[in-house]
Amino acid sequence: MTTAVTTRTDDERFMRRALALAEIGRTVPGASPIGCVIVLHGAVVGEGHNEVGIRHDPSAHAEIVAIRRACESLGRDDLRGATLYSTLQPCGMCSMASIWTSIERIVYGARRKDVHGMYFEDRHLDVLDIIDDAFRTDMSVTAGVLEGECAAFCYRPDDDPPLAEQANR
Ligand SMILES: [Zn+2]
Repeated sequence: MTTAVTTRTDDERFMRRALALAEIGRTVPGASPIGCVIVLHGAVVGEGHNEVGIRHDPSAHAEIVAIRRACESLGRDDLRGATLYSTLQPCGMCSMASIWTSIERIVYGARRKDVHGMYFEDRHLDVLDIIDDAFRTDMSVTAGVLEGECAAFCYRPDDDPPLAEQANR
């Protein structure tokens, strides 16, 4: 097992990059304000924001976009040893993709409880359950890095977002 050595300062620095990507996603038509950065050996190897409406691809969540770019840039079909930073707790699809990609560590900002349910596919199952039940035992999850700044990009639990934006309905 490769051990990714990162500090709290590193986590905040890379999460700030993910926040900058979320800001880009907020302003680009068809994108959404969720950002993701993938780091391997201290360097960003892939990044992106949600591109679902740009690509007309419901799987183009920020994490999937960043995973694809990282694998393409490295010429690899795994990201063993890498850390994935996401401004929002990854959904089930992105958690599973992280497992299949052999990502070692997931760090996210806003937690499920901080945001509206429209961001998730399941009422209860979350990234921790998925990682806990994975055959892989070398993954770790860190939640709540720059949580407030990350949550500010999302609808909050008591908001009433337009139905057209609620893709899980
Ligand atoms: Zn996702």
